[in-house]
Amino acid sequence: VIFNEIPKGYPEPGKTLKKVEGEIDLDAPLDNGAVLLKTKVLSLDPYLRGRMRPAEIQSYVPAFELGAPIVNFGVGEVLKSENAKFKKGDHVYGQLQFSKYQVVPKDAAESLVVLENKEKLPWTVWVGAAGMPGQTAQYGLRKIAQIKKGDVVAVSGAMGPVGQVTIALAHKVGAKVIASAGSEEKVKFLKEQYGVERAFNYKTEKASDVYAEWNKEHGPFSIYVDNVGGEQLEAALDHIGRGGRIVAIGGISTYNGQPYGIKNLFHVVAKELKFEGFIILNHTTPEFLKEFYSEVPPAIADGSIPIKEHVFKGLDNGESFATLFDQENSNFGKAVISLE
Ligand code: NDP
Repeated sequence: VIFNEIPKGYPEPGKTLKKVEGEIDLDAPLDNGAVLLKTKVLSLDPYLRGRMRPAEIQSYVPAFELGAPIVNFGVGEVLKSENAKFKKGDHVYGQLQFSKYQVVPKDAAESLVVLENKEKLPWTVWVGAAGMPGQTAQYGLRKIAQIKKGDVVAVSGAMGPVGQVTIALAHKVGAKVIASAGSEEKVKFLKEQYGVERAFNYKTEKASDVYAEWNKEHGPFSIYVDNVGGEQLEAALDHIGRGGRIVAIGGISTYNGQPYGIKNLFHVVAKELKFEGFIILNHTTPEFLKEFYSEVPPAIADGSIPIKEHVFKGLDNGESFATLFDQENSNFGKAVISLE
């Protein structure tokens, strides 16, 4: 799947991304240090939209190269290896091309890690709750918000992988959760499957009304995990309690060129809020990853972090990626491509 054209607004399947056919000789000898992979799983993440921009615009990750395959977190099976770190049959996690097979040269292979998968999770989970988005949720709640028992966490984009892990980790420490998502089915799922204390559909109920009502009954919530930005962030600023923590993770409502002018930032001063953003890739130290991998994958395996995935079968022209931003028909759970 190649980056074919820079989108003006929303990504357009077949235009922004395009599936092309090519051949790879699976019997060709490999260079020293290289591995040949069969791709098993590729993650679909909202931040990829930010890489679909003109190369001269700077950001925290490089722009995709026009005409070249896009890359993202994925899992591949080693078919052949000329690298001592990997052997045939290993499953590796890291940045992979959106292609069925791929030769990863020595330099890029250095950043791949072998997944032991002692927990026997489906490979898809390693790019979701047990991968980068799960790490984001854990880092946000623990390191930024310093969550503790008794906190009340409001989270937007709650049915995505960041939201799902946020909810589970909040409940684990004895915090309550107010969660928003964009459909009645998602709200029902959040209530019934995840047991959130208050779930709402932000398209039919205003976040500011829900927060006002909650605060009246229970006192103000203390943490806001922001995955979407825009109006919901503004509502959170209005209603979060004094000394609250806002974890700025994402702003998906603005990713396709709809900037939103937040009008009430002065609450950060007046309510003495902590309002902090981060890019998880800059914080995955060995210590952090040790903490994450010792806790989250086993908790997924024993069901104490329940997860929901939206699995797309096979590579496509970007239809699966476009669902991330589709207000009528969005992914229901972690969006992932399976090539099994
Ligand atoms: P999701 O799978 O939750 O993202 C897609 C979902 O976003 C859709 O299903 C839709 O759900 C929702 N959405 C789409 N458009 C809008 C909109 N206009 N307004 C509100 N919601 C919308 O993604 P993730 O859980 O993977 O990521 C969540 C956020 O975290 C993203 O903003 C992402 O970029 C960010 N992120 C940041 C990281 C960091 O290091 N800072 C790392 C990982 C993720 P719905 O039906 O609810 O509208």
